Amino acid sequence: MTQTSAKRQPEGAQDADLTSSGLEHKIAEQGMSNGHSKGHSFTNGVATNGHSTSKIAEIDASKLVVHLADPTLREVPDEATACSGLETICTDHMVTCAWTAASGWAAPEVKPYGPLSLMPTASVLHYATECFEGLKCYRGFDGKLRLFRPDLNANRMLMSTLRISLPGFNPKELEKLIATLVALDGPKWLPRSRPGSYLYLRPAIIGTHPQLGVQAPRQALLFITASFMPRMDAPVGGMKLHTSPEDMVRAWVGGFGYAKVGANYGPSLLATQEAKARGFGQILWLYGPQGECTEAGASNFFVVWKAKDTGKIQLVTAPLDDRLILDGVTRRSIVELAKDRLAGEVEVVERKYTIDEVLEADSEGRLVEAFAAGTAYFVCPVSLIHHRGKDVEIPMGKKGDSGEYTAQIKTWLMDIMYGREQHKWGMVIDEDTP
Ligand SMILES: *Cc1c(COP(=O)(O)O)cnc(C)c1O
Repeated sequence: MTQTSAKRQPEGAQDADLTSSGLEHKIAEQGMSNGHSKGHSFTNGVATNGHSTSKIAEIDASKLVVHLADPTLREVPDEATACSGLETICTDHMVTCAWTAASGWAAPEVKPYGPLSLMPTASVLHYATECFEGLKCYRGFDGKLRLFRPDLNANRMLMSTLRISLPGFNPKELEKLIATLVALDGPKWLPRSRPGSYLYLRPAIIGTHPQLGVQAPRQALLFITASFMPRMDAPVGGMKLHTSPEDMVRAWVGGFGYAKVGANYGPSLLATQEAKARGFGQILWLYGPQGECTEAGASNFFVVWKAKDTGKIQLVTAPLDDRLILDGVTRRSIVELAKDRLAGEVEVVERKYTIDEVLEADSEGRLVEAFAAGTAYFVCPVSLIHHRGKDVEIPMGKKGDSGEYTAQIKTWLMDIMYGREQHKWGMVIDEDTP
């Protein structure tokens, strides 16, 4: 038996936290099967009757099968052209890896970028069995290609996939597959002649099992693409946010806002579309009767203010402990950097705070700055929050393009991403020579 010794709880308690304890159990099981194992068989968390000891294959990047594209077929567009169309432009290759409950993960493949083939009855198309990640690879000013903390994305994807009953995997192997794609397509699509540029990497897992009926899929597909993505971190005049309407909640305690699953995003588009039509960049999602500030669009949200009681400068963001918001890699990095490098000057506070507190700070002249943070929007200055008919203007620094703490934090992160500062968060990729 490869059952983990999950602590057995008093009867009743076990029912109360069935989801979180189930998730923890699955993650622990995955940890055991991750190469740290001392020779026992992999379980993948898909055991029949929960008692399987059968050998089903783990993801294994060393088994990669490569079908190369003809590199002369497509030219690399410049950044502006690449982002001007209606379709995301991907690089020459993608990675795919198929899974079945019976045999586990097949050998991963690199193949020319192109359409997937799915049955119309595939689980993902009906029951939103999908999760994804978003990270970038960066062409450094030192000529090197880097990923930024890809281990955090791989671990988060494991949590997301298990949350929606898709198969688990060894996150280290996912990291290797991401690095493989970047090493292969980086030299051509992110050439050394474009330092300071990036490609966007999108790993995803979908339930492909072609059987209708609400059930955990017994077939799935992992794929990874690399693509262009427009820069969104410096909209002219800063990003303007519209608070969420009272009749829509993006994520809730007990829901799945903490997992990067597709089901979180589609239903938010209606409000976002309306806010955009009114000239706003994103929705500031409020939660609960007190209107707690949670996230800005699909980014984490930070406010800098002077504390009401002490007058001290605080960098404030929503907490992770109630599993309402996403544990962003950018968010986490900002919290860690600010605690380390702004110690003594700025207090870093992860706590619930409400839109009324932001309004009050504004009316008392204590609001210093605000920004959204995530891989896509990077660190994006926020200049205005519109809430129930009122505009809160947020200071944008001397030059009017960014608050000063926002700019400082952004520079620190960029220096790590683009190799101006050698840092353990920047993982250098060994590139294939073109
Ligand atoms: C992806 C995402 C973020 C940002 O996470 P990063 O790891 O920093 O890219 C924040 N909030 C939501 C809802 C997201 O989907």
